[in-house]
Amino acid sequence: MFDDTSRKTLVTVRGLKMYFPIRTGLLRRHTGDVKAVDDVSFDIYEGETLGLVGESGCGKSTCGRVVLRLYDPTEGTISIDGTDISTQGQGALRKMRPVMQMVFQDPQASLNPRMTVADIIGEPLVEHTKLKKAERLDRIYDLMDAVGLNRDFANRYPHEFSGGQRQRIGIARALALNPKFIVCDEPIAALDVSIQAQVVNLLEELQEEFGLTYLFISHDLSMVRHIADRVAVMYLGKIVELAPRDGLYTAPLHPYTEALLSAVPEPDPVAHDTANRTILQGDVPSPANPPKGCNFCTRCPRVMDICHHEDPAFREVQPGRFVACHLHNS
Ligand code: SF4
Repeated sequence: MFDDTSRKTLVTVRGLKMYFPIRTGLLRRHTGDVKAVDDVSFDIYEGETLGLVGESGCGKSTCGRVVLRLYDPTEGTISIDGTDISTQGQGALRKMRPVMQMVFQDPQASLNPRMTVADIIGEPLVEHTKLKKAERLDRIYDLMDAVGLNRDFANRYPHEFSGGQRQRIGIARALALNPKFIVCDEPIAALDVSIQAQVVNLLEELQEEFGLTYLFISHDLSMVRHIADRVAVMYLGKIVELAPRDGLYTAPLHPYTEALLSAVPEPDPVAHDTANRTILQGDVPSPANPPKGCNFCTRCPRVMDICHHEDPAFREVQPGRFVACHLHNS
C-alpha cells in the first residue's frame, strides 16, 4: 500500500484492531467492546520517525503498545524487520525483544525504585546476553555516556535524579540491546517544558548515531513537527490522515487535522487571534459506541449526508498522502 521503493520498510502494520471487551452483569457476559484501535494500517521506514498524534484517549498509546505486542491484538498483522510478530508466542516474542523497545511516558513509574541505575540499565543485558559482570558494567557505562548521565551515579537510585535524568535512564535501558525500533510513548509529557527540548534533542542524536527508527507518540503537535519525518493523525481509534510532515502541517487534508492544527498556538499572538480557527463542537464519542459512518461525523464542520452512514476508506489520495474522508473520494 505505502510503496516507496527508495526506502526499506522496517515496520508494517495492517488492519490492526485492539478491542477491550466490556463485560456486564453477574455472569460477566460480553456485551460490547471498547474499540481502542480500530483497523489501523501504516508503515515505518528504516531510520525515520513516524509521529502519531491525537487527543488524549484517541488510542495512540494503545496502538504503540500493540505494535510491540505488549497487548495481544484482536485482529491484524504487525511485521517488524521482516518477522510477523502478530501471533508469536511468548518464547518467540522474547527473542524479538532486543530489536524493539519502548520509552515510557512516566520515568518515575517505569523505573523500579529499589534498583540502582546500573541494575536498571543492566537488567536487559542479564536477561538477553551472556556478558560477564565486568563486560556488562562497561556496557552500562557506555550507555550512560551515550545518554549524558554521569558514570559516577551508576549506584544511585531513581529517586535521586530529576525527571529529565530519569527519562535518560529509561532511554539508556531501551538502548541496552541495540534495538532497531523504539516506540516513544509521550516521552516528554511528564517533564518540565525547559527539559523537554533536551530530551527530544537527545532522541534525535541517538537516532543519528545508532540508526534508530521511532514511532513517536505525542499530543504535542509542535514537538511532533520538530522531530517527525511523517505524521499520522489518530481520532477515535482510527488513523484519519498520514502524510509527510511539511505537507500535513501546511496543507492538512482531513477536517480533524485542520481543527487540531488550528488549535496550536502561533508564536505571534496577534496572528493567532485573527487566524482562521476551527473550534470543534461537542465531545469525542465513546470508543465503546462510535458513531455510524465516519467516526468524526458528530463533530466535523464539513459533515455531509454520506458521512452519517458510510465509513470513509483510508486511502492514498496523493503520492505518500493518505486520508479517510469523503471530501477526498474523487
Ligand atoms: Fe467530515 Fe465527512 Fe470527512 Fe468525516 S468523511 S471528516 S464527517 S467530511
